[in-house]
Amino acid sequence: MTKNIDWSSLGFGYVQTDYRYVSNFKDGKWDDGTLTTDNTVTLHESAGVLQYAQTCFEGMKAYRTIDNKVVCFRPDMNAKRMADTARYLEMPAFPEDKFIEVVEKVIKANIDFVPPYGSGASLYLRPYMFGSNAVIGVKPATEFQFRIFATPVGPYFKGGVKPITLRVPDFDRAAPCGTGHIKAGLNYAMSLHAIVDAHNQGYNENMYLDSKTRTKVEETGGANIIFVTKDNEVITPKSSTILPSITRRSLMYVAEHYLGLKAEEREIYMSEVKDFKECALCGTAAVLSPVGKIVDHGEEINLPSGMNDMGEITKKLYDTLTGIQMGRIEAPEGWIKVINE
Ligand SMILES: *Cc1c(COP(=O)(O)O)cnc(C)c1O
Repeated sequence: MTKNIDWSSLGFGYVQTDYRYVSNFKDGKWDDGTLTTDNTVTLHESAGVLQYAQTCFEGMKAYRTIDNKVVCFRPDMNAKRMADTARYLEMPAFPEDKFIEVVEKVIKANIDFVPPYGSGASLYLRPYMFGSNAVIGVKPATEFQFRIFATPVGPYFKGGVKPITLRVPDFDRAAPCGTGHIKAGLNYAMSLHAIVDAHNQGYNENMYLDSKTRTKVEETGGANIIFVTKDNEVITPKSSTILPSITRRSLMYVAEHYLGLKAEEREIYMSEVKDFKECALCGTAAVLSPVGKIVDHGEEINLPSGMNDMGEITKKLYDTLTGIQMGRIEAPEGWIKVINE
């Protein structure tokens, strides 16, 4: 029985569900892992994660479709990206096929928390991993814990699909060594001051520029960016220091193969942004959130799509992507993993 939760009023916050998965890595191998009802983690005071932030995570969603199935969107992509991140941070990759298997297990164990079709909510899954044994010299841990918990969520930005405002900050988001392509807690720790500062000044998010030349658009704190040009071309920044968003890759495919638009990943200069027609943030949490205004040190760029509605192309992209996820539109091969018929 689906839980008695007011799904339509859910924001993007933590709601405790029944089960989470835990597996430990010790003596060079992962154990079988298990589901548990315990939502706490007890750690050594000198655990690698606490001292040197050796940790990474993923974010993905399960949806209830129009024909009442529970599905997960492209979990193989999250499995691979988390393995890539782990290797970069000197952590053992969690096996990709096992990752998909335990994602399915966690969704099934919390199936009553998958929001109903049409509620606007979904079940967010948070796989993560961290160094758990004691380290004191600067070096990687040798023992790790991998966990996945689930929490039902609503829209990331209050107001759902209302356009938001960005500002170009004076801060760089990631560590100066250009580690934007890893999905790790440390990238986020480095952005917390910038995001609080943006909120205090009335902006929803920061739009970071490349830290080397400060002329090219990168991404926001937790989402990639797409623009629509005056010629209805969908473009997105090419950069090795932004997080390779699965939503973004999916949207570029949708633009080209479902909507017949030109879609290109290329360097995008801040000086071009004033000429674009539409702008939106994309990610698992943000889905596709329209941007109405961007402020660059006092200079305002008002997107022609305005502050009331999604732009025309953004809306088409949004409807097609969410249509694929909710089973209203046929998905490309391999995009939808059915959990429960
Ligand atoms: C997770 C994340 C995104 C979005 O990636 P998806 O795979 O689409 O969810 C974008 N930028 C950053 C910094 C992220 O952490």
